[in-house]
Amino acid sequence: MPLPGNPLKALNSYLIEGPERSLLIDTGFNQEECRTALFDGLKSLGASLDQTDIFITHLHADHCGLVSAVATDKNVVYCSEVDARRINWGLSPEYWPENLSFVASYGFPLREFGAALLKHPGQKYSPDTEHDFSIVREGDILEVGDYRFTIVETPGHTPGHICLYEPDKKMLISGDHILGNISPNITMFYKGLPDPLGQYLRSLDKIDRMEIGLVLPGHRQVIGDVHKRIAELKHHYENRLNEVLTVLGDEIMSAYQVAAGITWDLSYTSWEQFPLEQMWFATGEAISHLEHLRQQDKVRRLECTGNYLFERVK
Ligand SMILES: [Zn+2]
Repeated sequence: MPLPGNPLKALNSYLIEGPERSLLIDTGFNQEECRTALFDGLKSLGASLDQTDIFITHLHADHCGLVSAVATDKNVVYCSEVDARRINWGLSPEYWPENLSFVASYGFPLREFGAALLKHPGQKYSPDTEHDFSIVREGDILEVGDYRFTIVETPGHTPGHICLYEPDKKMLISGDHILGNISPNITMFYKGLPDPLGQYLRSLDKIDRMEIGLVLPGHRQVIGDVHKRIAELKHHYENRLNEVLTVLGDEIMSAYQVAAGITWDLSYTSWEQFPLEQMWFATGEAISHLEHLRQQDKVRRLECTGNYLFERVK
C-alpha cells in the first residue's frame, strides 16, 4: 500500500484467507491513496469485509488509520489493550498538544515551529472515530483456515506492539518489530514506557528464542533469516548508543541537540532540511536512546525548570 511522501514508502498489509473468515493485517493511513489500494486489493482477492476480521499490530496511523473504514457490524478488530487505548486517546483534543509539550521538555523548539507541527502523519492520517477493539493478549490464539496464530507481545516500537506467530508454519507476522533493510523507529512518547529501547531489545531477544523460517514485516521485503536480522538490529542500536555518547562528548545537551548531531539515513543533506515531523521523530528517537543510556548509568539527566538536559557519566 503506498504511503505517499513518507520515507517508509509503502506498508505491507496481508490477507490470511480462510474458508469462512479471513484476517486482514494492518490497514494503511486514513488517506485516499491507501483507501483505494486497500479496497482494490480486497476486491481482487474476493474478500468481503463482513467476513474479514482485522488485526492491528500497533497504534501507528500507517497500520490502523483505516480502521473506521474497514470495520463493519459483522467483523472484529483485534489490538492490544495498551495500543487500543492509545488509538482512541489519539482522537482526543489534548493528545497531540500533550505529546508536543512532552517533546518540548526535551529541547524541541516548540515556539519556533508552533502549529506547523500538526503535520505529524499520526495526527493527519489517524482513524476518523473511536473504535471498540477486541483485546488480545500474550498467548491468545487466532485461528484462520489452516493457520493457528499465537499472539506475541513485543513492546518497544510502541508500548503495546504485538506480532502473530504460526508455530507449525514457523512464520511470524512482525508488524514494525522486525523490518528488513530499515531499523524500526524507537521513540519515546508522552506517558510511554520509561525505557522503550530497553523493552525493544528485550522483545528482540524474545523473538530470537523462537523457531522462525519466514518473517512478514510491516514494511519492505520479507525476511528469511530472522536471527541474522536480529543480530544486525542489535548491532545497529549498539552503534547508535555509542554515537549518542560521542555526540554528547563533554557537553550538556538536550535530546533535540543530540538528534541534530547524529547521522540519519534519510535523503536530506542537513538537519535544517528535515521536515518538522521528521525532526520530531528524530528527537523522539534521541530521547529513547538517552533514556536507555540513563538506565545503564552512562548518562545523567538534569532537570532545569521542567526541561531535561543530558551529560555523560564520567
Ligand atoms: Zn510503526
